Amino acid sequence: MEKSYVAENLAGVRGRIADACARAGRNASEVKLVGVTKTVPAERIREAIEAGLEIIGENYIQEAKSKREALAGLPVAWHFIGHLQSNKVKTALECCDLIQTVDRESLALELDRRAAGLGRKIPVLIQINIGEEETKSGTGEAQAASLLTFCRGLDRLDVRGLMALPPFFDQPERVRPYFRRMRQLLDTLKNEAPGLSELSMGMSGDFEVAIEEGATIVRVGTAIFGRRAA
Ligand SMILES: *Cc1c(COP(=O)(O)O)cnc(C)c1O
Repeated sequence: MEKSYVAENLAGVRGRIADACARAGRNASEVKLVGVTKTVPAERIREAIEAGLEIIGENYIQEAKSKREALAGLPVAWHFIGHLQSNKVKTALECCDLIQTVDRESLALELDRRAAGLGRKIPVLIQINIGEEETKSGTGEAQAASLLTFCRGLDRLDVRGLMALPPFFDQPERVRPYFRRMRQLLDTLKNEAPGLSELSMGMSGDFEVAIEEGATIVRVGTAIFGRRAA
């Protein structure tokens, strides 16, 4: 059978991940690929899952919910990677397996409360606004340690690591210093929380640089699914 457009792209991205890992002296199994599917229809996502994609990343709760229903039963995990409003936490817990964007205490508290109601524990990442950009969510680098301590004090949160959406540049090399700072921050926070291991950073334009700087999760949309309708 001929490979689909999505399967073809996915194979290409996997190859580039493997090459970046080889350059960095890392094992390709250390890097998880999240396929970012905002605006991508469920049928396209199904093709990617059939071609071996294991994690989906969604930015909007309503979209995540309807696609998860449409693709129920397929062997794939769902990560939430958008800004999460507290009044969407209940639905988020119904349709997502990991929340990458915990950026404030009030959200952490609400996740803990709702997860307790469901009798489960929710894996999360703490989102860092590493470029200190006003338009972006995430806690400041300086507040990361206190948010981490707060989250680790909540029974129903399982904090796995950090996530960032650094400033955008055409040249990926210009993002490298931000990726490096994220890695340093993770290493510092590990003194307090040795279990922290995940570093979610890098998108279509810069995931190879992110991997060279220590990313364990890359979030790739366009390079797999093509350009999004504006
Ligand atoms: C859209 C998005 C991505 C993927 O972006 P691409 O450039 O299409 O790969 C990754 N992370 C977040 C948080 C996003 O919103």
